[in-house]
Amino acid sequence: MTGKVLVVDDQYGIRALLQEVLSRDGYQICLAASGSEALAMVVREHPDLVLLDMKIPGMDGLEILTNIRKTEPSMKVAMMTAYGELDLIKEAGELNAIGHFAKPFDIDEVRRFVRRVIGEAHDGTGL
Ligand SMILES: [Mg+2]
Repeated sequence: MTGKVLVVDDQYGIRALLQEVLSRDGYQICLAASGSEALAMVVREHPDLVLLDMKIPGMDGLEILTNIRKTEPSMKVAMMTAYGELDLIKEAGELNAIGHFAKPFDIDEVRRFVRRVIGEAHDGTGL
C-alpha cells in the first residue's frame, strides 16, 4: 500500500496520532500545524489526500481549502470538525471536500476512509 497523506492540525496530539496510525498502515505522512505550512506542503509534496482541521488559529480550514482550490481543484481533501459545525461542513462541501470527521473521531473509521480514498487514487478498485 502506498500513498501520501498530509495531516493539517494545530493540535500536536492529533498530528501525532494520525502519523503513528497511518504510517503503520503503510502511508507516507506529511504534517502541517498551520495554514502557511499546509499550503507549502501541498505544493512540495502533492499529497493524495489531505486531512484538514476546520479550527486552526490564523488561517482556518475553510480558508486553507479555498487556497488549495486555487491551484488544486481536484485534490482530495477531508475535513476534521467539531460536532455541530454543519454550516462549515456545507461550505467545505461546496469547495469540493470529499468527506468530514467529527472529533473525537473513530480512528478505525479514518483508517478505512483513507484506505478507500488512496485505493481509488492508485488502482481504481475503491478498496
Ligand atoms: Mg484545531
